[in-house]
Amino acid sequence: MKIQQNISLKPYNTFGIHTNAKRFISVNSLKDLKELIASEKNIFILGGGSNILLTADVEKLVVHLNTKGIIVNDFNDKVLVTAEAGENWHELVLWCVSQNYGGLENLALIPGNVGTSPIQNIGAYGVEIKDVFQQLEAIEISTGKTKIFTNEDCNFGYRNSVFKNELKGKYIITNVTFKLTKKNHSVNISYGAIRNLLTEKENPSIKEIADAVIAIRQSKLPDPKEIGNSGSFFKNPVIQVELFKELTKKYPEIPHYIISENEIKIPAGWLIEQCGFKGKRFGDAGVHEKQALVLVNYNNASGKEIYDLAQKIQQSVMQNFKIALEVEVNII
Ligand SMILES: Cc1cc2nc3c(=O)[nH]c(=O)nc-3n(C[C@H](O)[C@H](O)[C@H](O)COP(=O)(O)OP(=O)(O)OC[C@H]3O[C@@H](n4cnc5c(N)ncnc54)[C@H](O)[C@@H]3O)c2cc1C
Repeated sequence: MKIQQNISLKPYNTFGIHTNAKRFISVNSLKDLKELIASEKNIFILGGGSNILLTADVEKLVVHLNTKGIIVNDFNDKVLVTAEAGENWHELVLWCVSQNYGGLENLALIPGNVGTSPIQNIGAYGVEIKDVFQQLEAIEISTGKTKIFTNEDCNFGYRNSVFKNELKGKYIITNVTFKLTKKNHSVNISYGAIRNLLTEKENPSIKEIADAVIAIRQSKLPDPKEIGNSGSFFKNPVIQVELFKELTKKYPEIPHYIISENEIKIPAGWLIEQCGFKGKRFGDAGVHEKQALVLVNYNNASGKEIYDLAQKIQQSVMQNFKIALEVEVNII
């Protein structure tokens, strides 16, 4: 285990932003991680770098978590699959599908690592990890003690958990266990785009669903290998019904999703598009031409330029709709 000095983080974040880590270390085992945090407390954990916007050099020790391994506990009716934090998320999904373990198929092709998946309760196409989450193990940085978090302990919400709030930066998630089905999979094809692709299939297999999700994502979302981005930059806002009614007077076609009697979710991408930002470019920072929710780095944008653009969008949406857009990406 060797600490390196002044390492460019450009290859380590999907936005492709160049900032430096003053000190950087790759950790491949739990033993090494525990040894490291016995002496280093001021650390920044880096997974796949697909949910961060780097706006400055990182002063803390950057710990790139690379721990690998998958363990399966087989029961009559289900399996518990435990994966180490450094496993790649999409590879885990593909592996589970290949074993006919059901539950993760809608979450195919989400970038990043397993250890990060609970932090914002990753979700796509009608499924969130909280639906299949059994437990996780995490080390408290200040004490070095290991703690198990159940589903309830994580306090999962829409792109949210306890690790984005009161426990932010306090724990390192070291492994995550998912409760998956072995047969009679209860598949979720509620999303129109998935249903449309699987029209011929009465009972699609989990492999067919994963393939459909991959095809849809590849057709809609920019690949970070081609153009730097961090997926959805903002959360879809949930507004009160009174504001919604007021907005429908001016925008009768406003797309929405009813959450409860009083709350309505509005697609942030639609709001951004209405404000005229879709496809706009400011230097090397821009808003994707097909997905207004995705901010992009065309080449050499700095994190600050992307962040300035995000603020411009927030102000415009506030002015036009009286809606505060919340950033989903972690600003570092
Ligand atoms: C093209 C694209 C599409 C996306 N689509 C989706 C989507 O459909 N749904 C969705 O929910 N998200 C999506 N995302 C966002 C992203 O993939 C997820 O948030 C993912 O879980 C981030 O994982 P990561 O390992 O890359 O996290 P990183 O960016 O490395 O880290 C994110 C944060 O978590 C912290 N962290 C990382 N690992 C640990 C750990 N082991 N313990 C404690 N803290 C840790 C970091 O310090 C940082 O604050 C997308 C991103 C991209 C680029």
